[in-house]
Amino acid sequence: MTQFNQTEDTALVLFSGGQDSSTCLAWALARYPHVETVGFHYGQRHAVEMECREPIRQALACDRLGIDHVVDLTVTIAALGQTAMTADIAIEMDQGGLPNTFVPGRNLLFLTCAAAIAYRRGLRRIVTGVCETDYSGYPDCRDDTVKAMQLALNLGMQRRFVLETPLMWRDKAATWALAFDLGGDKLVGVIRERTHTCYLGNRTDRHTWGFGCGTCPACQLRARGWERWTEAGPVCGAV
Ligand code: ZN
Repeated sequence: MTQFNQTEDTALVLFSGGQDSSTCLAWALARYPHVETVGFHYGQRHAVEMECREPIRQALACDRLGIDHVVDLTVTIAALGQTAMTADIAIEMDQGGLPNTFVPGRNLLFLTCAAAIAYRRGLRRIVTGVCETDYSGYPDCRDDTVKAMQLALNLGMQRRFVLETPLMWRDKAATWALAFDLGGDKLVGVIRERTHTCYLGNRTDRHTWGFGCGTCPACQLRARGWERWTEAGPVCGAV
């Protein structure tokens, strides 16, 4: 297997099979000649998103798309305690204003694992779809958190990783717009039909913006973004 030498043009995308990470994968493929992906099992209720990954990779397949890595963190995350993301309990806000879908340490762990893979593979850029604009208040999605992680990972692994967050300042409407800019109707269609966002793992109820329960926070964000984009932006031919 080819190993790369920390060149500028290699990237590892944290790819869950959701709208954001799929858009990030298309973004990375538009920029870098070699792009690999990594996904994580962590006991998520919406494990169906992991099944969406390969069809999306196939839809975006090109010479630039390299191998996929899958890491099983199920035992690790489960051992750290239950949340509404990993157990069948109602989604609600906690006293600190955070939704109980927050999995403490999850994104920090993801970035650490991704960096370990990037280290081994010789990949320079690590791309993640975290976003501070339209997020659920998760502190590990913040720009400062990612910048701090970049510093910590580079110090701790003696590398010069570049953590890239193309969606950090984009809301969900802008994320749909980015997909359209990157790949037109075709990419919007792939993201609408094949990506998964719903926290409850619903792949049966179909909406204009894709599949999902339509009521969980993730579905609502995705739906509102779609509505704002289709009302204000270029109309996708598939609408
Ligand atoms: Zn939902």
